[in-house]
Amino acid sequence: MKLFAVFGDPVAHSRSPLMHNSVFKHLNYNACYTRVHLNDGSKLKETFFSLGLSGANITVPHKEAAYEACDEVRGFAEKIGVVNTLINENGRLIGYNTDADGFLFAIKEFKNIKNILVLGAGGTAKALTSRFIQENIKVTVLNRSNSRLQYFKELNCSCYSWSDFKISKYDLVVNTTSAGLKDEELPAPKEMIEKILNSTFYAADAIYGKMTPFLKLAKNKNITYKDGADMLLGQGLLANELFVNYELKTEDIKKFMSKSFEL
Ligand code: NDP
Repeated sequence: MKLFAVFGDPVAHSRSPLMHNSVFKHLNYNACYTRVHLNDGSKLKETFFSLGLSGANITVPHKEAAYEACDEVRGFAEKIGVVNTLINENGRLIGYNTDADGFLFAIKEFKNIKNILVLGAGGTAKALTSRFIQENIKVTVLNRSNSRLQYFKELNCSCYSWSDFKISKYDLVVNTTSAGLKDEELPAPKEMIEKILNSTFYAADAIYGKMTPFLKLAKNKNITYKDGADMLLGQGLLANELFVNYELKTEDIKKFMSKSFEL
């Protein structure tokens, strides 16, 4: 039996085991997927191999550590230095990133998105921003601190920390911070978030499975919003294709992965 896992801190909230096990079970694929709580990202590689894993997903805060742990990084992940999917290929650790395409899958119903404000500057922000730019979307990045903004400056994004933020009009604002994940915090001071929401058509949160304070505010303002569930489905679908080495049909994976969201 093949064994897969999701690594994170926190990880108890992760729906990935439900999603992937639903696919494996219904399609009779001999595999099992579990959660691994990992504090220290530098221990990722040794933990992966000591557990005898065939593949894994990586969640907050280890996606950049996962990039460092890889023997080879392929596709979009190589460009951004952020890995959310690991594959054991004959004892070599191969890294991929499926988050950005998962997010594009999630916002298909939002039309005419040309100008996005990204809240946060971590791994998810890097993945989404780089992918948006490939789609010729203008991106502004707002982060709590300055330290992580250099990457986005090099992509020619308008970049701000809370202390120097200059607001504009946006089609979509996306929360990629972990504020709201295990607390009731907003991704920026309330007054700033209020102004931002007054200047956007759509709001989205990468966090899933809960109504974050950010989405509650968007709802109160009658803004069309969505949480991170479809992004999760999109990235999971693409990761599962890698796990099973494309042996299962995409439509079947989608069907049974979606089914797990009904649980
Ligand atoms: P990282 O740890 O790489 O980045 C976290 C970011 O959040 C940093 O910019 C950090 O700012 C900011 N931040 C953390 N706490 C706060 C706070 N209290 N207030 C304001 N900003 C804060 O995380 P990831 O990019 O890996 O993940 C971010 C979120 O996206 C997580 O909640 C994760 O669960 C979710 N996610 C969901 C996916 C899905 O499929 N739905 C896929 C991928 C991620 P600073 O630089 O100042 O520290």
